[in-house]
Amino acid sequence: GRRRHGRDDAARGGWSDSRAASIGSVTHVTDVCRWDVPGRVNLIGEHLDYNGGPVLPLAIDRSVTVKARARDDGAVNVWSDLPDASKVSFATTVQPGDVDGWATYVAGTIWSLAERDLTIPGADLVIESRLPSGAGLSSSAATTCGVASALDELFGLGLDTAEVALVAQRAEAGFVGAPVGLMDQLAVLHGTAGHAVLIDTAVTPHTTRPVALGWEADGLVLAVIATGAHHALADGEYAARREECERAAAELGLEWLAQAGLDATVMLADETLKARTRHVLTETARVRSAVTAVGRRAWPQLGTILTASHASLRDDFEVSCPELDVAVEAALEAGALGARMTGGGFGGSAIALVEPDKVQALRERVESRYALHQWSRPEVFVVHAADGAHRVPAPGARLDG
Ligand code: ADP
Ligand code: MG
Repeated sequence: GRRRHGRDDAARGGWSDSRAASIGSVTHVTDVCRWDVPGRVNLIGEHLDYNGGPVLPLAIDRSVTVKARARDDGAVNVWSDLPDASKVSFATTVQPGDVDGWATYVAGTIWSLAERDLTIPGADLVIESRLPSGAGLSSSAATTCGVASALDELFGLGLDTAEVALVAQRAEAGFVGAPVGLMDQLAVLHGTAGHAVLIDTAVTPHTTRPVALGWEADGLVLAVIATGAHHALADGEYAARREECERAAAELGLEWLAQAGLDATVMLADETLKARTRHVLTETARVRSAVTAVGRRAWPQLGTILTASHASLRDDFEVSCPELDVAVEAALEAGALGARMTGGGFGGSAIALVEPDKVQALRERVESRYALHQWSRPEVFVVHAADGAHRVPAPGARLDG
């Protein structure tokens, strides 16, 4: 089969061992466990989770599975089905810089737990994914939240969902070096089938509320266009946007930029900060309008709001790229009600609200526009709002059967 981790005997054998690993005074509750964590798309509310604004992501029906087995020798071994990923091993006391490559997010999660005084005794971890990595669908949060959830169960760490999200966020921010907000983690942890998650990032801890999505009953689907592009400036520009937003908020005397009044852009002298602030303010208003439109099943209005969000991200926040702009244009030409980039930008994926019988035309249109540019072929697929992270009961103790 496709599951590549099985080729290594260490991953295959011994899963039924009964070990007596313990952490602090807490003895682990299981020998092996398995967690399934979805990816996400953000319906709307982009670059707002570090600005105290509302965001509306949904967990999707593509996920990462993390299998974990306790060790007691201070070692962590990780296997993955990512192309060309061979086993990576490191100590449970791993520090930033010790691990690079695909296993950074896993090592970062172990480090992040240790930063909370939760140094695990050791683990074997197997990561399998049906979620493209680096496509802007948050395989990173699925991986970190999956590892944290599995280790929490394995060693009885007693983390609640909010703490799992914080552990995962810190792994990205403190170990990988990506200063992300909490949207992705909360989306993949709190998602429920048929719902988006409305997250209020102005309050600590952030609050979450499910928002029922009725478009499928009304004959529409959400399509993802995975552009395959990932521009190298993504990380640096993300940090730059955060810094610009913090600067604008400070000049306005606000804790969060999303709290600014409509006159805020007049009060700022710098044209760049004006434009960034305009995005944050208009996007905040669009999330509220989108929640209303979803509640009223006003799909054309929702589509218009999504497309307006894209224009704002492209023109005011300047985080789009030609591949995303062409994907959105082509989706609209193919009859989508609305389309926008989703996630941080500079590549990754776009989403489109569209009738199911127009998905093929949309795919062909995006593919032909990409072919003209000689860009590699994008992937177009429909997603459904799915449940967030959950443990998968393993029959018996064997994980690999
Ligand atoms: P995205 O979150 O949009 O998919 P990121 O660059 O933030 O993109 O995260 C991708 C990273 O997540 C990978 O480089 C890898 O470290 C981790 N990851 C994703 N899928 C897997 C997997 N199947 N096994 C191990 N790590 C994975
Ligand atoms: Mg990510």
